Amino acid sequence: MASNRTMLMLPGDGIGPEVMGEVRRVIDWMDKRRHVSFDVKEDLVGGSAFDKHGTPLADKTMQDALDCGVVLLGAVGGPKWDNLPFDKKPERGLLRLRKEMQLFANLRPAKCFDALVEASSLKPEIVRGLDIMIVRELTGGVYFGEPRGISDIGNGERRGVNTQVYTTSEIRRVAAVAFELAQKRGNKVTSLEKANVMESGVLWREEVTKLHQEKYKDVQLEHMYADNGAMQLVRAPKQFDVMVTDNLFGDILSDAAAMLTGSLGMLPSASLGAADPATGRRMALFEPVHGSAPDISGKGIANPLATIQSFSMALRYAYDLGADADLIDQAAENVLKSGVRTADLGGGSAKVGTTGMGDALLKELD
Ligand code: ATP
Ligand code: MG
Repeated sequence: MASNRTMLMLPGDGIGPEVMGEVRRVIDWMDKRRHVSFDVKEDLVGGSAFDKHGTPLADKTMQDALDCGVVLLGAVGGPKWDNLPFDKKPERGLLRLRKEMQLFANLRPAKCFDALVEASSLKPEIVRGLDIMIVRELTGGVYFGEPRGISDIGNGERRGVNTQVYTTSEIRRVAAVAFELAQKRGNKVTSLEKANVMESGVLWREEVTKLHQEKYKDVQLEHMYADNGAMQLVRAPKQFDVMVTDNLFGDILSDAAAMLTGSLGMLPSASLGAADPATGRRMALFEPVHGSAPDISGKGIANPLATIQSFSMALRYAYDLGADADLIDQAAENVLKSGVRTADLGGGSAKVGTTGMGDALLKELD
């Protein structure tokens, strides 16, 4: 059925197409049972796009992504393409999407499902009920700042340089995303930087504070040095609701937070761009945190829940279908509670493969 909910689906490589197959079944279910339909286009990205078009992302696919506004991606990469030149590598396809869609806010939820508390690397009492959202700035900071490079400085010495740069508008737009998320969650934002040693950190703290005063006074704001944040994340993670930080600290803190919750096969993510002033809609890309998992691809044993939850993040953040997202997340929780497990989750009473997990989820949704 035609609808104004357009989506570009890019299953990609390795287990990507396997887990995306289960999302397709959820989309069919929504059409049939909830009368919510999507206009889904499908295309290639990564190694599979290289094999067909000689590039990890064809121009036509890039244009479709911009036209659709919403991309759901599986995974890219694999040993087959490891030795390609830099600009042909599967990962470049994903980077091009992020760059041209101008996705500046990366959302990484770290949520501990009750049924998986035992799978966490931490004590049950520390992680039970954990539900954090990390917002990482994605297009600035030390990853892109100039000058950068390696140079000879004489006497056999060399120098490697990176520069951390942030402007006020870069800080404000990502902080605004964090405040708006907090308003729909626990109403608290922790902003992390190292204002004690970095100028960009001083500016970050000032701008977040100003924006808070101007527009988000109802949200509780706290500032924390990033190193202390890392410690608190392991010591008492439930003190956090939304954490917002720069590109580099966000990379590190979101990986650390992921390990609090158990398996990679459970972790979704979203990357958001600027809101269109006319429609309020944002460019957005949703993808699981895990990669293409070449070691298990083709075996039908990959856990599809990270990708299904990435779809539910799309419902929540791109289509304003929060109630439907809740339904899917709750169904996943119930399925896990009933003991259904893919191999990566261990334990449980009913071992299933990728489609078995999909079956269990659809049954629970019904
Ligand atoms: P990338 O460089 O793309 O991040 P990677 O090799 O670092 O890839 P993954 O591809 O995510 O990481 O795989 C890491 C490990 O986790 C592998 O052993 C893989 O089998 C496992 N894994 C990843 N995703 C899943 C999943 N959905 N279900 C089951 N196991 C998974
Ligand atoms: Mg990796």
